[in-house]
Amino acid sequence: MFLPCPTHEDQPRRLPSVAGRAPLSFLPSIPSPRQILQAHALLILLGLARSRSAMGHLLAACAISSFPLPTSYTRAIFNQIEIPNVFACNNFIRCLARSAAPAEAAAVYRRMRRQGVPTNNYTFPFLLHSFLEDLPAGSQLHAHIFKLGHHGDVFVRNGLVHFYGLCRLMSCARKVFDEMPQRRDLVTWNAFIAGYARLGQVGACEKLFWEMPQRDAVSWSALIMGLVQAGSMEKALAVFGEMAAHGPLPNEATIVTVLSAAAQLGLLERGRAVHAAVQALNLPVSVNVATALIDMYAKCGCISSSRAVFEGMPQRDVFLWNAMICGLAAHGLAGEALQLFERFMDLGLAPNSITFVGVLNACSRAGLVEEGRRQFSAMTELHKIEPEMEHYGCLVDLLARAGLVQEALELVSRMDKAPDPVLWGTLLGACKTHKLFDLGAQIGNRLIDLEPSHDGHFVLLSGVYAMAGRWEEVRRVRQQMGAGKVAGWSAIEAEGKVHRFVAGDREHERWAEIQEKLGEMERRLMEAGYRPDVAGVLHDIAEEEKEMAVREHSERLAMAFGMMVVEEGRAIRIVKNLRVCGDCHDVTKMVSAVFRREIIVRDGSRFHHFNAGSCSCGDFW
Ligand code: ZN
Ligand code: ZN
Repeated sequence: MFLPCPTHEDQPRRLPSVAGRAPLSFLPSIPSPRQILQAHALLILLGLARSRSAMGHLLAACAISSFPLPTSYTRAIFNQIEIPNVFACNNFIRCLARSAAPAEAAAVYRRMRRQGVPTNNYTFPFLLHSFLEDLPAGSQLHAHIFKLGHHGDVFVRNGLVHFYGLCRLMSCARKVFDEMPQRRDLVTWNAFIAGYARLGQVGACEKLFWEMPQRDAVSWSALIMGLVQAGSMEKALAVFGEMAAHGPLPNEATIVTVLSAAAQLGLLERGRAVHAAVQALNLPVSVNVATALIDMYAKCGCISSSRAVFEGMPQRDVFLWNAMICGLAAHGLAGEALQLFERFMDLGLAPNSITFVGVLNACSRAGLVEEGRRQFSAMTELHKIEPEMEHYGCLVDLLARAGLVQEALELVSRMDKAPDPVLWGTLLGACKTHKLFDLGAQIGNRLIDLEPSHDGHFVLLSGVYAMAGRWEEVRRVRQQMGAGKVAGWSAIEAEGKVHRFVAGDREHERWAEIQEKLGEMERRLMEAGYRPDVAGVLHDIAEEEKEMAVREHSERLAMAFGMMVVEEGRAIRIVKNLRVCGDCHDVTKMVSAVFRREIIVRDGSRFHHFNAGSCSCGDFW
């Protein structure tokens, strides 16, 4: 956080001592709630329960505690003080700013003004912090700052730059930043860069980063955050590499950010490099870092490393458990995910909404209809968790796959929010699988009305019509298709580089060899009895460019390249942005058997572990 702890005290009255030491001096620099309660008890014993100075210090301790104390508690302390001074008010405001009811801070400030308590330079940054993104309140306070003569204070100015950055109002942040160039410090620069980073304006971030007179871990972190926000994951990872090698020690926020970048890329080697840097620099693996590691390894297809990180943690919070449960579910390891959930419940921990996304997802991947229904009602009735779109999505997927399309439809009709296109898409897919043509046509047309720019819906609907032999309709739907198509690509990491392929790609430097390999694959698959799925290609080309011959789909190119460069015995890992098409799925299964290679494909929604001729998804995706 950008707010330093106030070290000065406006009324330096000495506390009566216990064996010559002030009672609160026993507290560590970041006290736990328990230690604060102990200190409070001691103060009461010493007869200081109403002392302005002692209670002010107690509030200061609450404001920086490792975990926020309930507002009812801090308010009770504050109310004990008969005539609160600015130190006590500031620290109470600071407690409120990090509480669940930050709006109460403004009321404390109004009371201060009414009672004639003087303000100081600590009052305003804490207040601004409590306003979150409330622009009208913040600009009003800006006027007060000016009127009361605090506008020249660096600490106050930093609070303003941070506030305007949070409100995404960079023109105002810039005004404060430019107004008094001599009243800037490292924190001012960092707050300013962070504002641009939040907006993903990488150009501005980079320019400021190189302009600033000195840089610390927060500055690096802001730049990396900006790159991630702008979607430049690879560059973010490169900047992190630079930081780890030559810059200041990365902080927790930076590590979590770069791990999420590696997870989004889905490229294992990049993620591993971040983990290696954490180990090499001897950085502490906090619960947050461990959670990000588990998530990264799971998303990069290496669930065993997720497990190792999870089991190695001495302390675990609900987010850490969630990352592991969701990771196992995404890998189709339903039994293990549910066992882990049971372990979690046995410890008496309280699940949250995300825990149930993992649990329901596990049920859906494994086709556990009864268990899924049970968990869904346990979530809503026992744990009082409001179901969200993801929960409905999992349950609808589960029911629809099991052929219970009618029950899925009833569930959707009982929802208290409008179903999103993904949900309708799931139902439409089920109609196609279970050959419910009329219902499928109905849902498909509705879906196209909802999201006319999504070509996938047109493809699915035309697939439904094609299966029913209604060619006239197939043509009509195909003609309606727009141009808003996402280009499909597949990526593979090799020799320290990311190789990205699009369908029919001829740009790669080893194009000729890739062609040769594709030819060899085709030949050996033909010998093993493979025939291309011509029907699928004509009527149900998934989301890859349909004009391309299926043999040049991007994942085939990546797979051929992978067979060339990934040594025998190691898995070929491919990341694809869209869904795998049926024919490519068949081919990959056969390749895994004929060439004895393990192939792991992460597509738009799940993992496919291909091994010895079958896939972990059970041919349902
Ligand atoms: Zn394909
Ligand atoms: Zn699969």
